[in-house]
Amino acid sequence: MLDLSRDAAPVACVFEANDHQWLHEQIGAVRRDPKLFWMPCFILGDADARDAPLLDGDLPPPPELKQAIDSVLTLSASFKHQEGELSRTDRLLKYLWLRPGFVIQPMHDWRHPRYYRYPILEALAGTEEDVFGWLQTLANSRTLEIEGLVDRQRECLFCHSAHLSFTDICPNCRAIAVEKVASLHCFTCGHVGEQDGFLSQGGLVCPKCGTRLRHIGSDYDRPLEHYRCRECRHFFVEGDVSARCAMCRKSMPPEDLIAHNIHSWRLSERGRVLAVRGDAGDVFSAFGELHFIANELFIHNLDWLIAQVQRYPDVQFAVLGLSFPNVPELVDVMGHGRTLSLVESFSARLRDLLRTPDLSTRTADNRIWLLLPHTDTHGLQGLLARIKKSALLTRQADGQELVCRFAEFVSTDLRELETAELLLARLRSELD
Ligand SMILES: [Zn+2]
Ligand SMILES: [Zn+2]
Ligand SMILES: [Zn+2]
Repeated sequence: MLDLSRDAAPVACVFEANDHQWLHEQIGAVRRDPKLFWMPCFILGDADARDAPLLDGDLPPPPELKQAIDSVLTLSASFKHQEGELSRTDRLLKYLWLRPGFVIQPMHDWRHPRYYRYPILEALAGTEEDVFGWLQTLANSRTLEIEGLVDRQRECLFCHSAHLSFTDICPNCRAIAVEKVASLHCFTCGHVGEQDGFLSQGGLVCPKCGTRLRHIGSDYDRPLEHYRCRECRHFFVEGDVSARCAMCRKSMPPEDLIAHNIHSWRLSERGRVLAVRGDAGDVFSAFGELHFIANELFIHNLDWLIAQVQRYPDVQFAVLGLSFPNVPELVDVMGHGRTLSLVESFSARLRDLLRTPDLSTRTADNRIWLLLPHTDTHGLQGLLARIKKSALLTRQADGQELVCRFAEFVSTDLRELETAELLLARLRSELD
């Protein structure tokens, strides 16, 4: 085993890639080590795809190597924590802080329940479990920001596995024993049925109206594909589809699957401030009073309500987008502390205006979305008036106040084929 004595205080590490299993264990041990995790680690040769994300690339020539190490040491000196054991988030902050421009890339792994894993997050957390939950927390606190979209997938509603299979089932009894059958369409009476039912003494006779069918195209034709359930004998054109999870074995309709976007991530501006100062000190954190849910969950709920509205005409809901364009100016004029308490008091009042089933999420520092079930135009206008009144309460003696911009939507204005994402994109233009 590699012996990295604590006293020797190494500043970098070089591995030879002769034995991939050995390398895998060693680099994992360094990244999991509470004292050494941050070290630049270079490689001579090629690493496995699973280990490359934990390494800092090929060993550079001496002048560049010295430059790289100097840069890491300089940045390390400005990192906030110099003493004591770091939490996993602080370890990640330090790791990213020492590597400007580092991108946390997902790695495809078909054996993983979610098909993707983030090797560097697993190594720094010291566990493969709950990396996605941690990532969500980092995203919610805006310590990390999205670098790019790598994949979009559907996941099991119950266990988040992406290992799903889709089966056609009978829309009547939900059995899987469904078979395609040849069928005919009688022009005289409009009857559609299985071809077997039309066979009569070597010819075709409509079992409903008794007409003899001689010429295809003038007497009868073959309609779209039809199916017959072998369990309940139900005859149908379009079956239902059931999604089954290979991990937990539960079945669910495809529309209940959770949409999950797989992203690559990088340290955000806020994350960099956290690395140096230890607290973000940003006024937008005051919106946290609103108990935001993850964007994807918000989209999922919104899509669900859109489906409800299309099916049940008496279902209604509203969406309200809010943005706060003058916060940076307020900080300039009033200072950080006063702006923070002003935003805090506003969002606490906003929180009190919301009802339990109302959901909120945030898609940018100063862009908030509210999803309001059972709300019509009248209800939305009432809430809007109360929010405007609440914003007015932020007015200071010197005339400064929090400016709110709104994007309003009620479900009766839903456009054809509009999904949650399309709807939010349409409304967003009113907030910018
Ligand atoms: Zn059936
Ligand atoms: Zn007929
Ligand atoms: Zn499952």
